[in-house]
Amino acid sequence: MVAESTSLVTGPAPAVKSSHHEKLRQLEQTALACRKCPHLVAFRHQVVFGVGNPDAELMFVGEAPGADEDLRGEPFVGRAGELLTRIIQTMGFSRAEVYIANVLKCRPDVPPGKSGNRPPSAEEMATCLPYLRQQIALIQPKLMVALGGVAMRGLFGVDQPMKSLRGRWHQFAGIPVMPTFHPSYLLRNQSLTEKRKVWEDMLLVLDRLERPITERQRNFFLAKG
Ligand code: URA
Repeated sequence: MVAESTSLVTGPAPAVKSSHHEKLRQLEQTALACRKCPHLVAFRHQVVFGVGNPDAELMFVGEAPGADEDLRGEPFVGRAGELLTRIIQTMGFSRAEVYIANVLKCRPDVPPGKSGNRPPSAEEMATCLPYLRQQIALIQPKLMVALGGVAMRGLFGVDQPMKSLRGRWHQFAGIPVMPTFHPSYLLRNQSLTEKRKVWEDMLLVLDRLERPITERQRNFFLAKG
């Protein structure tokens, strides 16, 4: 009786909660040892599984780790990652409150002597997608944000320009997905209008999560008339 009333006050019993945390940890161990793509295994420093809150209501999905992420073992820690973190904070979340993952968990290989990153191929993303599917099934976020056209291609197999995809809801495994431009696109196109488009997508996310939105937040990146 006491135990029952305690659980009413404190929410789900810890045992129930920790079982999906534990399953997520087990999935991570499996992914870290994955050898499905020999060319990526040979090139990677480490598998970049995902980071954040296993109970997140909001999940961000990018395409694949780049050089910085491959070295750190964490998604979105380079320049694009810093911008993503600012977007998350401007929405009113901390990075630790949301969950961040990529469709592909290993850095796509580039030829010896070449620097930079390459986008993941459709085949690489299809091979890796089951890990993301299981992450999503365990975390059960209320909403997801797909960052960029390559992530959309990995999730949905669609090959459409981001401008025709963003700003409206899609569904993946029963979870609403808002596509928006990848932060690295914003680093290349620093215009107020492009920043505003991403911000409008994030306002739709906040609205659907029923999070309070301040007047200041509503007006971010609007040209001052
Ligand atoms: N771009 C991505 O899509 N994912 C990362 O983790 C980093 C950059």
